[in-house]
Amino acid sequence: MENSESYNLTGATLAEIEALAAEFGEPRYRARQIYSGLYRRRLRDWDSFTDLARPLREKLRGRFTISYPETVRVFVSSDGTRRYLFQVEGGQRIESVFIPEDRRDTLCISTQAGCAVECLFCVTGKLPMRRNLTAGEIVGQVLALQEDRGADSKRLNIVIMGMGEPLLNYDNVMKALRLMTDPLGLSLSTRRITLSTSGIVPGLQRLAQEDLVPNLAISLNATTDEVRDRLIPINRKWNIASLLDACRRFPLEPRRRITFEYVLIEGLNDAPEDARRLVKLLKGLKKKVNLIPLNPDPWVPLKAPSEERVLAFQKILHENHLTAYIRRPRGNDVSAACGMLAGREYPNEDGTHHPPAIAKAGLTTEGTMSTEKKMFGVEDNNSPAE
Ligand code: SAH
Ligand code: SF4
Repeated sequence: MENSESYNLTGATLAEIEALAAEFGEPRYRARQIYSGLYRRRLRDWDSFTDLARPLREKLRGRFTISYPETVRVFVSSDGTRRYLFQVEGGQRIESVFIPEDRRDTLCISTQAGCAVECLFCVTGKLPMRRNLTAGEIVGQVLALQEDRGADSKRLNIVIMGMGEPLLNYDNVMKALRLMTDPLGLSLSTRRITLSTSGIVPGLQRLAQEDLVPNLAISLNATTDEVRDRLIPINRKWNIASLLDACRRFPLEPRRRITFEYVLIEGLNDAPEDARRLVKLLKGLKKKVNLIPLNPDPWVPLKAPSEERVLAFQKILHENHLTAYIRRPRGNDVSAACGMLAGREYPNEDGTHHPPAIAKAGLTTEGTMSTEKKMFGVEDNNSPAE
């Protein structure tokens, strides 16, 4: 920040920059130059905008910064996965994960600092929900990654699966999606962006009406409301039937499918009956299933099933013609795997990371709900734990 009055222009839309150009008495095409400098050319300081006259650059410098989330540390896994620990305005820590693969690279980005959904199996859900990220902070994670890795946009897949529940930060997530896919801006393909949700049904209904719809992933994780209520507290408000109904109504382009994520947890949702129920529940949907054996953590009072049981679960799905992949953890040696993102900074001697600091008074690993959670109308008197 150059001064306390300056405003970060990362995250501004073309329309917003056009309004600004008008205010400065500049022609409209100037706005396009600024916009393309921000997102396509990824310029970081006003001096680099050599296509703008110097007096205009000075005016812009006086009022605006171009900031990305500040990189605190990058943790590099033995498998090449990189966990970026960022600090955003206000001091909150968020994370993105870069997963290099043979034919593509995947970047997993965060939408909130913390998460109010408090799933029993997820470490992010043990953190206090601090705030929604702005569109600039969401798109800024992609820009910061590209700055660091030079990642080619054509190889890049974005998964909105980091910290937070994207559909509880709807407007900022949509704004960021528009910036990412705008041909004048980052120009990423919508088909290469996947949004994962724990099942916020009104958000799904709203998303279904948009002209820009990313691929959809649903964290289903259970086949009965009894179990899902315990794992994902918002299921008490939007149960499996209402969630799958919203999925059935969700518009899909030809050859597109909804991904159902299913975290396998020993003794809770990994029985052969669960696999058979899953087949029935998903009947008629265009779908595939990602089976994710639980990533263990000291904060999570649950275990992954044995490899045998995971394979047996997948076999039942296959026998019933349901496409199902087993997702192997990436970057788990640097706490970068699914559900492990908690802003951890200092590794232990063995390379593992401490559980996050106690989030709030009275919080236990049983996932006791806090007052914020009441905003979803979830009762506070029944813990999702046994
Ligand atoms: N809030 C969104 C997106 C972020 S969570 C959502 O819940 O969909 C991304 C994925 O990580 C979800 O599918 C979630 O089920 C999974 N996950 C969370 N904790 C996990 C754990 N301990 N092991 C494996 N997967 C986990
Ligand atoms: Fe939030 Fe998703 Fe973690 Fe649940 S799994 S606590 S919704 S980030």
